[in-house]
Amino acid sequence: MEKERQDIWENIVHVEERILNACNRVGRKREEVTLIAVSKTKPIETLFHVYEKGIREFGENKVQELVEKYKDMPEDLNWHMIGHLQRNKVKAVIDKACLIHSVDSYRLAKQIDSEASKIDRDISVLIEVNIAEEESKFGIKASELDELVGLMSQLKHIKVKGLMTIAPFVENPEENRIHFRNLKQLSVDIKSKNIDNVSMNILSMGMTNDYEVAIEEGATHIRIGTGIFGERIY
Ligand SMILES: *Cc1c(COP(=O)(O)O)cnc(C)c1O
Repeated sequence: MEKERQDIWENIVHVEERILNACNRVGRKREEVTLIAVSKTKPIETLFHVYEKGIREFGENKVQELVEKYKDMPEDLNWHMIGHLQRNKVKAVIDKACLIHSVDSYRLAKQIDSEASKIDRDISVLIEVNIAEEESKFGIKASELDELVGLMSQLKHIKVKGLMTIAPFVENPEENRIHFRNLKQLSVDIKSKNIDNVSMNILSMGMTNDYEVAIEEGATHIRIGTGIFGERIY
C-alpha cells in the first residue's frame, strides 16, 4: 500500500514536470492545461492516493464505474465521462459528470438534451472526432463536424465546449502531431463561425504516450491513465 502510494506520487511529480516542460517549450502557461487522472479499472483506495496528491479531475470510460466511484469518493472533485456513451446510460451519468467528452452522434446529443431538460440543467459536452479515421475508433469524421455542430447548437440544454480525440496508438508520439494539429485547426474554424451555444475553448487530446506533443499543439485537457496509475490489469 505504502509502496503503491509512493509510486503514484512519484508518477504524478514526473508527469507534472513533463507537462510544465511541454508548456514552456511553446510559451503556454501550466494553468492552461487540465490534467485528468484516468482511473478506469483502479480501485477506490488507489484513487485516494491521487486525490491526496491534490488531483481533483478524474476520468472514467464506463458509466457504471463512474457512478460507483462517484458515490465512494469525496464530493470536491470533477468526474469526466471519456468513454463511448450509450443512450440508455445517459440518465445515470449526466448529473455526475462535469463534462462528457464523447458525444459522437446527434441521437446521443438529443438524448442528453432531453434528460438534461428533465433535471433543468445545462450539460457541457465535447464532440469526439475520429481524427485519423481509424476503423476501430468511435467518433465522427472531420467532414461530418460542421453538420453535427449546427444541429447540436439548437439543443437548449447542451453546451458544446470543444472537441476530443483519441489519437492512434503509435511508437513515436511525433506521428500524432499532425492529428493534434488538425483537431486544433477544426476547433479554430468552428470558433470563427461564432455559433450560438458553441464555444471551442476545450481541446481534450493527449494520453500517456503522446500528451507532451498534444500540449505543444494546443491541448487544454490531457487524459492520463497509465502514466499516473501504472499499467492496467483487466
Ligand atoms: C484509457 C483512456 C485514456 C488513458 O489512457 P493511458 O494511455 O493509460 O493514459 C485516455 N482517454 C480515454 C478515452 C481512455 O479510454
